[in-house]
Amino acid sequence: MQNENLPIRVLPLVEASFGLDGGAMFGIVPKPLWTRKTPADEQNRIDLACRCLLVEYANRKVLIDVGIGTRWTEKERNIYKIGNQDVGLKRALAAHDLTANDIDDVVLTHLHFDHAGGLCFEQDGTLTASFPNSTHWVQKRNWDWGHGPTARDAGSYRRDDFGFFEKDGAPPLNIIDGPQELFPGFDVFPQFGHTPGMQICRIQTQSELYFYLADLIPTSAHIRDPYIMGYDLDPLTTLREKRDLLHEAAKSNGILIFEHDPILPMARVETDLSGKIKLIP
Ligand SMILES: [Zn+2]
Repeated sequence: MQNENLPIRVLPLVEASFGLDGGAMFGIVPKPLWTRKTPADEQNRIDLACRCLLVEYANRKVLIDVGIGTRWTEKERNIYKIGNQDVGLKRALAAHDLTANDIDDVVLTHLHFDHAGGLCFEQDGTLTASFPNSTHWVQKRNWDWGHGPTARDAGSYRRDDFGFFEKDGAPPLNIIDGPQELFPGFDVFPQFGHTPGMQICRIQTQSELYFYLADLIPTSAHIRDPYIMGYDLDPLTTLREKRDLLHEAAKSNGILIFEHDPILPMARVETDLSGKIKLIP
């Protein structure tokens, strides 16, 4: 598809490495099965990445998600095995001759701390916006949920990550409700299995179609049906949303982008003769 208004390219940017409990990451799947491809450390954690996505237009730069951020105590860094954390996204942006000031828009898939933690940093005791020149975008259902999660998922939302939007001088926040085309070739659509209103992004560039999956399919090890995270609030909804997405990607020859895979940033999928989805790295 040739259209000069479409994005020129997408660039995956790894903001941090971290680790979460392998059992929580694979839900009901028994450890002897998931450890075949995903080894666990002595504390049962598996390695994960915070992989954001830069979407470049001729005259606009859009960033999807901002990673885990730098506002962590030593104890928390050890619990979550947070690596590369002194600079957040600065290093990854600098590798492309960019700074946080160059980002025009930040699209947040949802407000969990490993996706929205990098929205602000602490300077002289106050929280300062990491992307001061950006318009920020989030789904209303997730914005509302993040302000009143249940006791089960309260640990995944840290109010300080997004609370600074309510202060004077904060960068603009656009709260959207439902599927929408945000920019040419860039659609978001909300999902409800992982957490209400998590939006995944479908991006048609001048040459390829990409799906940025957030936590719907966090790593390439989560393709098969039962591989659904224990964190998900409504796993049967995740199952349906995941199948729909994978079949759409297979049919359109789209490229999946894995936000948390420690090694593989992207892959295509195909449907085999029996109708099963197979990964093509
Ligand atoms: Zn999440």
